[in-house]
Amino acid sequence: MIKPVIAANWKMHKTIPEAVAFAKRLKEKFSEPGDVDIVIAPPFTALRSVMEVLKGSPIHISAQNMHWEGKGAYTGEISAAMLVDAGCEFVIIGHSERRALFGETDGMLNKKMHAALKSGLKPIFCIGETLEERESGTTFEIIQEQIKEGLNNITPNDISQIAFAYEPVWAIGTGKTATPLQAQEVHRFIRETIADDLEYAHASETVIIYGGSVNPENTGSLMDQPDINGALVGGAGLDFESFAGIIRISER
Ligand code: PEP
Repeated sequence: MIKPVIAANWKMHKTIPEAVAFAKRLKEKFSEPGDVDIVIAPPFTALRSVMEVLKGSPIHISAQNMHWEGKGAYTGEISAAMLVDAGCEFVIIGHSERRALFGETDGMLNKKMHAALKSGLKPIFCIGETLEERESGTTFEIIQEQIKEGLNNITPNDISQIAFAYEPVWAIGTGKTATPLQAQEVHRFIRETIADDLEYAHASETVIIYGGSVNPENTGSLMDQPDINGALVGGAGLDFESFAGIIRISER
């Protein structure tokens, strides 16, 4: 049985006091390790303060992005070691907003994956098709390519550290969720690709979470699917009651 992961990606939201207040409430409500691994991904500015609040709690901290180089003249960028230093255990890599708005290619993401894993960060590796790709029937090809290119030369030992996030781009922030069966179909394909193309012997234990307009109302039916092991939550992860509701529903 895979322990579900419920992660909130706060994107470019929340000041330090807002992030700290949310983290305090979360720590109070989920003070003991439960049936779900809870992860929050605050903006860089709030990482350290959130880490101070969550010290000693079972809640994990993720960054939303990183650079692949260790240090140097890369104005505006943050290295994996800096994220570890700020208390991160996870890092989101390949979010569709990074791919679409900031030109991140599979090759760049592969470098990030190697750098993250080398520093001991656990990547939440995002993949997903656009609406155009879905409508033209190329969803599976796109997913397969994103996995093969993004995980090029990643060792089996390192694959065990990765959580995959299937996020159909057309479902992110749009209020349109993939139906549970649509999501399940792609999650199953991801697991098969990890087993067959990456030749990973433990694909049945790989965490594959779904992202795209997840909320307390649709969490139950998504989590009922055999290959959906949690959620990456954007909008609903900004609201305490909604996020706590998603966690509670996933604790079964
Ligand atoms: C996301 O950005 O990863 C996401 C899933 O957003 P939302 O839940 O708002 O669709």
